[in-house]
Amino acid sequence: MTTRFEGLLIDGERIPGKEGAATEIVDPASGVPIASVARADRSDVDQAVAVAKDRFTTGAWRTMIPADRGAMLGRIADQITANRDALAVAESTNAGKPISAALGEVDAAARTFRFYAGAVDKFHGQTIPSRADGTLLTFREPLGVVGVIIPWNFPMLILAWKVAPALAMGNTVVAKPAGVTPLTALMLGDLALKAGVPPGVFNVVPGPGSSVGSALVTHPDVRKISFTGSTEVGAGVMKDAADDIKRVSLELGGKSASIVFADADMSEAVESSIWAVFDNAGQDCCARSRILVEQSAFDGFVAAFTERTRQVNIGATDEPTTDMGPLITPSQRASVEDHMQRAADEGAVKVCGGERLGGDLSGGNFLTPAVYVNVQPSMSIMREEVFGPVVAIMPFFDEADAVTIANDSDYGLSGSIWTRDIGRALRVARAFDTGMISINTSSSVHIEAPFGGVKRSGVGREQGMVALDHYSEYKSVFIGNN
Ligand code: NAP
Ligand code: MG
Repeated sequence: MTTRFEGLLIDGERIPGKEGAATEIVDPASGVPIASVARADRSDVDQAVAVAKDRFTTGAWRTMIPADRGAMLGRIADQITANRDALAVAESTNAGKPISAALGEVDAAARTFRFYAGAVDKFHGQTIPSRADGTLLTFREPLGVVGVIIPWNFPMLILAWKVAPALAMGNTVVAKPAGVTPLTALMLGDLALKAGVPPGVFNVVPGPGSSVGSALVTHPDVRKISFTGSTEVGAGVMKDAADDIKRVSLELGGKSASIVFADADMSEAVESSIWAVFDNAGQDCCARSRILVEQSAFDGFVAAFTERTRQVNIGATDEPTTDMGPLITPSQRASVEDHMQRAADEGAVKVCGGERLGGDLSGGNFLTPAVYVNVQPSMSIMREEVFGPVVAIMPFFDEADAVTIANDSDYGLSGSIWTRDIGRALRVARAFDTGMISINTSSSVHIEAPFGGVKRSGVGREQGMVALDHYSEYKSVFIGNN
């Protein structure tokens, strides 16, 4: 079958890689190839970084009036909105997302560019009272070339979270999408050009992490790496960046907990907790994959949760009514199945799910959502990130017990608290060792607020005004009174 070819995006041109290699891109819902994408190598990264460095040092991007740069970001948002359907179809077929979810992701990417379009001229330095005779100022300056490394679970949205604030501050960007999901990153690069962003300011180099990703991380002219992905790879990125004292922000894995007290609105807690773990087929760093339920409510919660799980509409991603699509690759599904086997070996009990789909859907990497009980905090299913549609539910005795179990994790990305007692909700929110908390909801992504984790879930924050800190440096300037 012939599929369309997509080149790398360097200096505003779509070009084949120097080695002429290509990666076949497959629809995870069918196993059918949908595109062939040029595969960059280290020399392509060198070229992209050289162009981005030149555009930073000699181009007009960095010195542009901030409000004009903001207007340009606004035009990128307009382009995303104008191409909403095409972007959503590409994301849906490349990442195996239900079309409704892909449309939501495209809208969120547009909102991200709009937020930073408006933020550009509201982020500034200070005048500082000095004990010396003169005037003390700070400038907020861009870093230079920023390397951006993206995972496959939210390919377009996570790219937007990094590229929008990086460009807003006047940096230039070389982005590496995940090897299996490069399509919307290339489309976004094209749309930025259409919006008027000068060629070479935003470059996209698809290719493997082991060569292209590593070349970006170790390149002496890349001033900062913004990485989202697994904790294991993130730790390697941090080590590799150390030689150059390169700035890094890392958004890594999670094993987030929902804490459900017996006084909660149970039907809301059940409905919301379903999507908090099974959305995106569980391939979500914020997935609440541990649900802790107060003992008196435990049996009722498990019964209602299981019944609702059985109704999750899993299937074809182009159906508007589909809730859940496939896992990204056959190997990701096999990895989730390994986790489930270990859960069973360690004594956890599966209440439902964990099955492959047959018939018309047998070519896709589908796995029905799985619910485990009879778990202990020491079990791998309570400790390791599964990154698939698998949840563990366990009872707790009291507030202190809930907090102890929730915090007994190497990770600390997000978490939910369900209770009608506001005092308790706020006490638990304070005690919860995690980066983002939702109370009586599962929503933890807000473009206006810092997003990121503690412990092995990462360093730095994305979104909100604080992201601009991560794409800029302070420069202190003292003007003597003479
Ligand atoms: P991954 O395997 O860590 O890969 C992430 C990115 O890093 C990919 O683009 C990958 O390229 C690249 N990479 C691999 N090896 C590299 C190296 N040595 N140097 C530089 N880059 C390298 O993660 P994934 O499998 O795509 O995504 C799943 C993980 O991401 C989960 O653990 C999840 O929790 C985490 N995640 C976190 C967040 C968050 O915001 N905290 C959001 C989404 C996902 P290739 O894929 O081409 O090899
Ligand atoms: Mg991976």
